[in-house]
Amino acid sequence: MARIVAGRCDTYDRPQLREFFCRSLSDFNLSFEGRRVLLKPNLLSGKSPGRAVNTHPLFVQALAEVLLDNKCKVFVGDSPGYESTEKALEKSGIMEVVKKLKLGIANFNKRIPKANSGISPYREFVFGEDPLDYDLVVNLPKLKSHILMGLTAGVKNTFGFIPHLDKAKWHLRCGADKKLFASLLIDIHSVVKPALTILDGIVAMDGAGPSHGRVRDLGLVALSDDAVALDYFLERFLSIPHPLPISSVALERGLLTDATVINSGTPEVQDFLMPTIVDTDWNLPSFVSQTARTVFTRKPKCDGRKCTACRTCVSVCAAQALTLGDKGVAFDYRKCIRCYCCAEMCPVGAIRA
Ligand code: SF4
Ligand code: SF4
Repeated sequence: MARIVAGRCDTYDRPQLREFFCRSLSDFNLSFEGRRVLLKPNLLSGKSPGRAVNTHPLFVQALAEVLLDNKCKVFVGDSPGYESTEKALEKSGIMEVVKKLKLGIANFNKRIPKANSGISPYREFVFGEDPLDYDLVVNLPKLKSHILMGLTAGVKNTFGFIPHLDKAKWHLRCGADKKLFASLLIDIHSVVKPALTILDGIVAMDGAGPSHGRVRDLGLVALSDDAVALDYFLERFLSIPHPLPISSVALERGLLTDATVINSGTPEVQDFLMPTIVDTDWNLPSFVSQTARTVFTRKPKCDGRKCTACRTCVSVCAAQALTLGDKGVAFDYRKCIRCYCCAEMCPVGAIRA
């Protein structure tokens, strides 16, 4: 049975977080003593901690300190969507923690073939880092709304094992089929097999996440040995009325098992703002969904007043649906698969649904 431990931490106060981690880790049957541990934060892009795009550096620091006290060898890394790992670590504030605590860096630049025995039609992945190089992988997602999948939390965070721009290619292979993409995410997660997922929901993001949404103080920290169960718990915690794509596919595949939940008084959230794009075409019969997607769903659009012509969106669009001309960014909506990678990666938030 899965185990979820949720608690309240109103700030990134390190002593308080350390105390919470020490107490909560003992609820799991894991031995950390002397182990080689990879911490996998959400490092989507090089944004400052106040933007709530990445796992907060003090969250990473508090956990790393607890692990170092247990004589672990600790590594930190992720593959950001566009920049190098080192650059994103620097801008996110996590590099300062790496230097201060003398942690190792996992830069996710390798090309490691990994077989997939899961259900999605994709039989092999290429990872930027091999989970088997570590005794334990600890998954450290940031709680954010996600314009494509509704939420990004435990399962979605391990998509980061797909190196850098390869992620956009996987979006292209799945097309606009959210169920297929959810299935892919679950399979990738099952290959990574994190020993533990520890969610940073102290300051979260809702609305137009995962890059340009509203910063929200939620005060939530949650640990689980089962990220699928954790994500489902989060949907109920955030009062989301129906299962989102990952949970829906997990339910269909029989992957959602009973969970023991220990919640030390964290109240449920009633006003979490979901991205509207998810509501428009999810949970409808497939033929309706396809029609609705074509006719009614929103399309990415560029606000030319904000655009700085940096070309990031053009580079990340695997569908080659974007061109940058004299009048700014132009979309070919016949090619566009509505993956919103362009919106996620635009450094100035010029692309919206
Ligand atoms: S990423 Fe944003 S700022 Fe850069 S070219 Fe595209 S729309 Fe403009
Ligand atoms: S234009 Fe944007 S939303 Fe459309 S396929 Fe390209 S990256 Fe995805």
